[in-house]
Amino acid sequence: MANRNMSLEKVKMPEQDPNVRNKNFDEVALGYTPEMAMEEARRCLHCKHRPCVGGCPVNVPIPEFIEKVAEGDFDAAYEVITRENALPAICGRVCPQEDQCEGRCVRGLKGEPVGIGRMERFVADYRMSKGCITTPEIEKNGIKVAVIGCGPSGITCAGELARRGYDVTVFEALHKPGGVLSYGIPEFRLPKALVAKEIENVERLGVKIETNVIVGKSITVDELMSDGYRAVFIGSGAGLPKFLNIPGESLLGVYSANEFLTRVNLMKAFKFPEVPTPVKVGKRVAVVGAGNVAMDAARTAKRLGADEVYIVYRRSEAECPARLEEVHHAKEEGIIFKFLNNPAAILGDENGYVTGMEIIEQELGEPDASGRRRPVPIEGSNYVIDVDSVIVAVGTSPNPLLRTTTPGLDTQSWGGIIVDEATMESSKEYVYAGGDAVTGAATVILAMGAGKTAAAAIDEKLKAQR
Ligand code: FAD
Ligand code: SF4
Ligand code: SF4
Repeated sequence: MANRNMSLEKVKMPEQDPNVRNKNFDEVALGYTPEMAMEEARRCLHCKHRPCVGGCPVNVPIPEFIEKVAEGDFDAAYEVITRENALPAICGRVCPQEDQCEGRCVRGLKGEPVGIGRMERFVADYRMSKGCITTPEIEKNGIKVAVIGCGPSGITCAGELARRGYDVTVFEALHKPGGVLSYGIPEFRLPKALVAKEIENVERLGVKIETNVIVGKSITVDELMSDGYRAVFIGSGAGLPKFLNIPGESLLGVYSANEFLTRVNLMKAFKFPEVPTPVKVGKRVAVVGAGNVAMDAARTAKRLGADEVYIVYRRSEAECPARLEEVHHAKEEGIIFKFLNNPAAILGDENGYVTGMEIIEQELGEPDASGRRRPVPIEGSNYVIDVDSVIVAVGTSPNPLLRTTTPGLDTQSWGGIIVDEATMESSKEYVYAGGDAVTGAATVILAMGAGKTAAAAIDEKLKAQR
């Protein structure tokens, strides 16, 4: 390709200033202009063996879409991406590209990889800003399939089946579709208007979404099958929070990260008193954990007006499970990291409100089962910090409701649904599952990949019986 850009660095993406953005909920990263996207596209070497595509769980044809971006034909680029990925504005923003597509890019061997995610985001935003969405002609086959949960795995499975002509209904427990995309990931990383638009595009394929239906309570999987649904896909996620099991965890002002982020994202708590869902974080907040969820909770608490927000994590920065970009953004916004610190107790006043946290310093010992060095408490190192609230972000597991109401559905001891990885079919015939409900808390793109695999397998099985 003529005029290749051999810069070792990605074209920078403009961002809001850290000291401005830590007081608002607007998006942090502002996105490429057409010129920036075209300049970044010229960094791609169009490798014949396309290693980047192998790193994408939904097989986006990366060099092909980048070629169209380089030519300035953004509509064509959108068509190429959406052949394989129905949610490009979302993936371009939240995929852990460093572990997926960009992690395999040859430009990353010397310098930064090609900014695949940034370009994917640009192409999707460009197309949305033009309001130009085409709906393909689909020949319907009249066969009903039910999808449980409207997160990324469920939406992807539903969209893929609808494209193949199936009559798909998604049953969602909450009043809004989107799963973690709507109630978990904050507005400043993933604007909810974009999530709604990408879901609308899937609905245009004929997918019906029924909200406020808790499968296992409102209706069971077996009842769905008796109602004429020939297959069921379970994409119910892993929304049950884990706790620390230390004294003081039931004090007023202790939140699970799930509850805290749901109140802020889905119920717009930051607009109180305009909305009746306040969240009171106070001036000093401790967030326990150091994954992406902890970073989101800490940055949200800062935006709600807290002066001091601590991340309390029992291992060192090297073991921190959050994306580097999230840690970097959190530090820029003034979040204070307390690595090698573990909470021992949450302290409260006579009215039951949080007043502080007792912490024990740690040092790293031998590696544990996870391969990471085990934190060991340093005797006598206990100290107390004053805090007004505590947000616990130490992981989640699948809710037991579906496994306890679906006879024949085998699960792991921790609750994950057991599936055949090639088809995503569970131990119960015609019942498939994918996403966090199978793997435990993972990523949007892995959940989408699972939804796609399941849709192909459901089609194969039902087609053979027609
Ligand atoms: P979910 O998104 O959890 O959706 C499951 C849906 O099923 C929910 O809407 C739920 O209400 C519904 N449901 C549950 N039970 C029932 C029932 N019985 N009946 C009907 N409906 C039901 N991943 C990334 O890739 N990048 C990130 O930056 C990132 N950040 C994250 C930040 C936070 C705060 C959180 C919590 C997660 C983050 N993740 C991120 C992880 C990612 O969001 C999840 O891995 C992904 O959403 C899993 O998709 P899913 O479809 O399996 O489940
Ligand atoms: Fe990369 Fe995610 Fe896009 Fe795939 S969907 S190309 S992993 S950003
Ligand atoms: Fe382009 Fe990188 Fe993919 Fe090669 S590996 S085709 S340089 S994006």
